[in-house]
Amino acid sequence: HAKAAGRNTFAIFGGHMDELLRRRRKLEHDLRLALETRSQIEAFYQPVYSAEHKGLSSMEALARWKHPEEGFIAPDIFIPIAEEIGLIHELGAKVLEDACSVMADLPLISMAINASALELCSDGYPLRVLSRLAKWNIDPKRLEIEITESLAFGGEAHSDRNIAMLRNAGVRIAIDDFGTGYSSFSRVQNVMIDRIKIDKSFIDAVQGDSKPLIEAMINMARAKGLKTTAEGVETDEQSDALVALGCDSLQGFLISRPLARAAMIDLFNGTGKRTFTV
Ligand code: C2E
Ligand code: MG
Ligand code: MG
Ligand code: MG
Repeated sequence: HAKAAGRNTFAIFGGHMDELLRRRRKLEHDLRLALETRSQIEAFYQPVYSAEHKGLSSMEALARWKHPEEGFIAPDIFIPIAEEIGLIHELGAKVLEDACSVMADLPLISMAINASALELCSDGYPLRVLSRLAKWNIDPKRLEIEITESLAFGGEAHSDRNIAMLRNAGVRIAIDDFGTGYSSFSRVQNVMIDRIKIDKSFIDAVQGDSKPLIEAMINMARAKGLKTTAEGVETDEQSDALVALGCDSLQGFLISRPLARAAMIDLFNGTGKRTFTV
């Protein structure tokens, strides 16, 4: 009896695994095609509000995959696949190309892109980024690259050298999702970065438990000459609290969701709908 049940369970489990594996293989295959067509993968842009300038000052390019049958697939799904099958470099290059074309159209705006650890550790990465900027005639100071805490503090020789090359050329470096990794404040001392982006998990509780932590992060950043951005700001109350604490920039659905290029350009040109009240 028990044996039969066991076999049954195994059969169900096995079938489920088969299906997961098939789906995974299909996504890998489709992602290869998507990058070849160069139209299914494009950047969306999430505006960033500057408290100092009281207006939109920059944006973050976020990769989007419009799958022909399944609609939009989230980066949290396809970025890890791209990393695993070696396509993250092509993907990053496509997002950077899209981002450059926007910077060329909006000369006063700066732009952030996200770099995967695999990109940041790869030998040719800084030169690839800098030559792309040069091709578009864009000042490297207008580009910020968002990296993870572990990359910034990991002390890994390749990424350290690549970060130095990019920063020497004027590119800025930000730590994404700050506070979620394992680094301690003291490590920020010796690191070559320009900005911390305080993770949404802290911002969610800025009026409560997280307030002293966020205050400490902002004060630490200020003492080190770093800029701060709050990620995932969704309410007026959060926005008010963050501005009162001295946060430099705000990003989140309150200001705007990530937008397709045309909608984002309308917003920045003042013809689009402004969704924020700060
Ligand atoms: P991230 O860089 O931390 O980006 C912030 C994510 O939070 C985005 O999700 C954004 O849409 C979402 N978000 C922004 N404001 C709010 C808010 O107010 N509320 C909520 N609930 N969410 C908000 P998205 O676009 O799905 O990207 C997820 C992650 O995928 C990114 O996190 C980034 O780590 C990665 N990613 C996206 N594009 C790229 C890329 O081109 N290259 C690489 N390597 N990674 C990327
Ligand atoms: Mg980011
Ligand atoms: Mg983030
Ligand atoms: Mg994130």
